[in-house]
Amino acid sequence: MAQITLGSTGITTDRNAFGALPIQRVNMETAVKILRKAYAGGMTFFDTARMYSDSEEKIGQAFAGMREKIFIATKTHSNTPEKFWKDLETSLSLLKTDYIDIYQFHWPSVCYKPGDGSGMYECMLEAKKQGKIRHIGLTNHKLGLAHECIDSGLYETLQYPLSYLSSEKEIELVGKCKKTDMGFIAMKALSGGLITDSAAAYAFMTQYDNALPIWGIQRETELDEFLSYKDNPPQLTGERRALIEKDKQELTGEFCRGCGYCMPCPAEIEINNCARMSLLIRRSPSENWLTPKAQEMMKKVEGCLACGKCASQCPYGLDTPELLKKNYADYKKILAGEAEVK
Ligand code: SF4
Ligand code: SF4
Repeated sequence: MAQITLGSTGITTDRNAFGALPIQRVNMETAVKILRKAYAGGMTFFDTARMYSDSEEKIGQAFAGMREKIFIATKTHSNTPEKFWKDLETSLSLLKTDYIDIYQFHWPSVCYKPGDGSGMYECMLEAKKQGKIRHIGLTNHKLGLAHECIDSGLYETLQYPLSYLSSEKEIELVGKCKKTDMGFIAMKALSGGLITDSAAAYAFMTQYDNALPIWGIQRETELDEFLSYKDNPPQLTGERRALIEKDKQELTGEFCRGCGYCMPCPAEIEINNCARMSLLIRRSPSENWLTPKAQEMMKKVEGCLACGKCASQCPYGLDTPELLKKNYADYKKILAGEAEVK
């Protein structure tokens, strides 16, 4: 099962797809090198977004002149027709292309439909008519909206978080998409960095022959890991199942996935790291999170204005200010040697 077809779009691609959010964090030269290596290694599907700063520009630089060899999915967070067209033209220009394979509404608060008064779905139809986009998709983190999107029959792909930490109800979406011949693009297969065993994450994904995981890749070493799975796909062995069960027990309930949708914070708190520091520091080498810079980052939690902006924007319904407080209290204990890390 090395290839995946995204429902009625007919897009068939290697099951290792590239999530281009993290390449924002590296310079142009490194990003271009990684993207080209990904293509050389068999990756043909690249997912980005207008919101991911210069990610589209990096993809444009990497693949100029070979557009027909790859698939590009990007997203607009616009909520008015005017912003929609501005975003689309900007994306086309930065990506150095005249069409986008899948154009997605990026985490909209409603499932846009024709005649709903917003004019947004009509923009998609018009863009398709003009040949600027080939397929219409939607991304979301909310279960209810995801169901509405599938039930509407208006969208060709749904992008939704899927990992071995997903609930049964979330996993049901994959089967529902299959039944309705809709493509399923799986984001956050590593749950924002909390899943540290990529082989286990990959093995979990192989159970779903219609879900295309877009692996968020920033470093060449990460890319190499995923490319190595092409010839030697990790199996869902008893050992891996045990690890998944252990992680599920450890990472249940109210935990921050690090998505960053609640940012920017007016007090400049790096919420996507600070609100899950207790997990990060215990699930990855702790010294990375104990540097003077990391301590400074955590200290900013003291400046929280309790404005509630973050909680109101968290797609997981988390009480973010409370989570920040808890994580900071734990962090201070770690610094004082009163709490354990690995
Ligand atoms: S409640 Fe605190 S952490 Fe959240 S956005 Fe406001 S200042 Fe930032
Ligand atoms: S608090 Fe919520 S929105 Fe903010 S980074 Fe964590 S999961 Fe994402």
